[in-house]
Amino acid sequence: MSITTRRDCEQADSHDPLGTLRDRFLLPDGVVYLLGNSLGPLTESAAARVERAVRGEWGEGLLRSWHEGWWDLPSSLGARLARLIGAGPDEVLVTDSTSVDLYKVILAAAMLRPGRRAFVTVADNFPTDLYMLDEAAAIHGDYEVRRAANIESLVDTIDEDVAVVELTHVDYRTARVAPMAEITKLAHDCGALVIWDLSHSIGAVPVDLGECEADFAVGCTYKYLNGGPGSPAFVFAASRLHSELLQPIPGWHGHARPFAFEPFYDPAPGIRRFASGSPPILSLAALAGSLDVWDLVDLGALFEKSRSLSELLIVRLEPLFSAGQIELASPRDVSQRGSHVALRHRDAEALVASLASRGVLADFREPDFIRLGIAPLYLRHVDIWDAAEALADVVTAGPNPQSA
Ligand SMILES: *Cc1c(COP(=O)(O)O)cnc(C)c1O
Repeated sequence: MSITTRRDCEQADSHDPLGTLRDRFLLPDGVVYLLGNSLGPLTESAAARVERAVRGEWGEGLLRSWHEGWWDLPSSLGARLARLIGAGPDEVLVTDSTSVDLYKVILAAAMLRPGRRAFVTVADNFPTDLYMLDEAAAIHGDYEVRRAANIESLVDTIDEDVAVVELTHVDYRTARVAPMAEITKLAHDCGALVIWDLSHSIGAVPVDLGECEADFAVGCTYKYLNGGPGSPAFVFAASRLHSELLQPIPGWHGHARPFAFEPFYDPAPGIRRFASGSPPILSLAALAGSLDVWDLVDLGALFEKSRSLSELLIVRLEPLFSAGQIELASPRDVSQRGSHVALRHRDAEALVASLASRGVLADFREPDFIRLGIAPLYLRHVDIWDAAEALADVVTAGPNPQSA
């Protein structure tokens, strides 16, 4: 349906199959929250689950809680989020941060390709990905990190010397979606393994790691999954690789028989070998609570609503684009765009502050980007309509109308 008035937005929202999920979030009044791609908001179920973990499991259960669910949380939460990325339930583990998991999978993948001496990525990848590739290369000695200028020029950098290609699926600035199936095949044809960073993809865009025959993936749970500040990341490894896999931070939580306290490391079967030390149980409890909401989500309806909201936003801003007042930095084609919309303006930082004073929370990214995160579980068409109005006002008035 085409939306041309705020009334149309209300109509669309009243027929929204995900509409009731908004009530599960504890959002402040009077705010349009477009930062769910940075820090997802609190759900009632996460708050309740943390309360239970603190007072019940820790307070009452004490040590025995390790054996009544805590020990299995990294695997059981991994199994619950697997369907969001097209993975099998035994292929995902929740552990550590995305940064640390990158380090683990880069070196794990490199160990599967002995003799090859190069890693490939793109120059504008997320900084932590670049740092981890450089560090993994340095630790291993004479490794070379090749930074392609962009996704298009990857093809010129992948050859028989490449062990690992590591890329972010949805660009954190522009929301551009990299062609996962194509690139994975390109790398496999040269015998290289591929790692996908899904931090801006999970819960935001369709991902089918199984269908793409992806090797490894990592990603955040505190963005679209609403797992809470610093909630642990996830790591995926295709089950066909499990038996040969070793990772560089072996610890007792990833041992085959942790309570035998053996003096030498023997990796647990399967994805569990990616565990290192004791996980942050209270953070895992928050993630478990937020997944209670995700378990209810029909993914087809989610992606359709994401597209509907981001198209509405762009269509409402089109007059500003054609007047040259602000620039669209995301792909115009919805099939190539993730679930946020990026704009560019020389006064981006001041505009974000003006928006905040009107209750529209968006973020600024260096040097001149404004990012508007579209999280369909709690955002409505009316919110997007109002955010577009506010944006048009502040762009037209200038960032500081009083002092202009
Ligand atoms: C947010 C983000 C991260 C964050 O990594 P942490 O170590 O979990 O803080 C990593 N990669 C990408 C692409 C991101 O967007």
